[in-house]
Amino acid sequence: MADAILVLNAGSSSIKFALFAGLEAEITPVMHGQIEGLHTAPHFVARDPAGTRRGEKRWNAGTRLGHDGALAHILDWMQSACGSQHRIVAVGHRVVHGGTDYLAPVRLDRTVIARLEKLNPLAPQHQPHNLRSIRILKEREPQLMQVACFDTAFHRTNPELAQMFAIPLELTAAGVRRYGFHGLSYEYIASVLPTYDRRAAMGRSVVFHLGNGASMCALAAGRSVATSMGFTALEGLPMGTRCGSIDPGVILYLQNEYKMDVRAVENLIYNESGLLGVSGISSDMRTLLATGEPRAKLAIDLFIYRIGRELGSLAAVLGGLDALVFTAGIGENAPLIRERICTNAEWLGAKLENAANDNGGPRISASSSRVTAWVIRTDEELMIARHTHALLA
Ligand code: ADP
Repeated sequence: MADAILVLNAGSSSIKFALFAGLEAEITPVMHGQIEGLHTAPHFVARDPAGTRRGEKRWNAGTRLGHDGALAHILDWMQSACGSQHRIVAVGHRVVHGGTDYLAPVRLDRTVIARLEKLNPLAPQHQPHNLRSIRILKEREPQLMQVACFDTAFHRTNPELAQMFAIPLELTAAGVRRYGFHGLSYEYIASVLPTYDRRAAMGRSVVFHLGNGASMCALAAGRSVATSMGFTALEGLPMGTRCGSIDPGVILYLQNEYKMDVRAVENLIYNESGLLGVSGISSDMRTLLATGEPRAKLAIDLFIYRIGRELGSLAAVLGGLDALVFTAGIGENAPLIRERICTNAEWLGAKLENAANDNGGPRISASSSRVTAWVIRTDEELMIARHTHALLA
């Protein structure tokens, strides 16, 4: 029987999971999947590494499975499907916020969990759900080793200035600072970039993590030196439903003139803005690209414009640029978006190879391009498995 690591990524309405084995040598994927619609119409699916469906279950609409029920189903299914060959020896969790205390993955005990719960207000849409799965598992399997891997940790190499807001220093000291997110994705990209482009990996790159949540990161010799997200996962680019950077005066104006309370503003900027808010149609880039509606076009134009501005800013931080790397749902799958971003980046020395871009890369820049451009599939789950394995060892 082989030792295995289970990776869990618990969101508000879904739990994603992945099982990895082969801990002694290379870590290899065994199974992955998710339960979506935890509070509405739960749907479980598990696939093997080839993408073949190995398990599926649907619950009736209106079933409120919740995190408890979903986790129980995943563990029970895993035991019956993989239990004869694999024994779970540790669980690695994606935890969005590690604050200033956690600069690296950490083994979870009740004290650490309690400290991480104090960070809930910094990531209200993610952190409580991440921690809920950890608590449930602790009750169910108290002896099982659990590890938290943080989305913020990779950015702790940012210089102090990059982590500061221009507010009274006492507030910065109290933790009101720029943390940055999507760190596990950037860390994975940094770890594989040398196999694609050694010069860029040693040099200066900007990585575009463009999914429902979207951010950008400047890498200098593989280390994060600046990123577009800040104190929360709201800052920076417009996203599926989040507004991205906004003049803080707008928030005050909405409260004063529109009499919106904190919850109403929170809902507006987290759930009703971004691609959805501008288009009035959808938060989903596929839907927006497929429709000819002018407001959908406007939403995409704004997304591209803001990415271009952020790129200029990160290139300035790096003092130049050697490579662009696209990843996550939009970055990996939308050639038109990549084309527009690269065309806007021609002033920096990027020249797209259209056929390669249409074919999905990995290299999508012309051979004459001074700045290379790449499409690299991110793998946050593998990164978590690697970290968990390192702590096991
Ligand atoms: P999450 O942040 O939830 O993990 P993903 O990384 O899965 O998100 O990215 C989701 C986004 O990727 C959605 O906007 C979706 O429309 C977009 N996307 C996925 N496939 C394509 C595609 N083929 N073309 C354009 N956009 C795509």
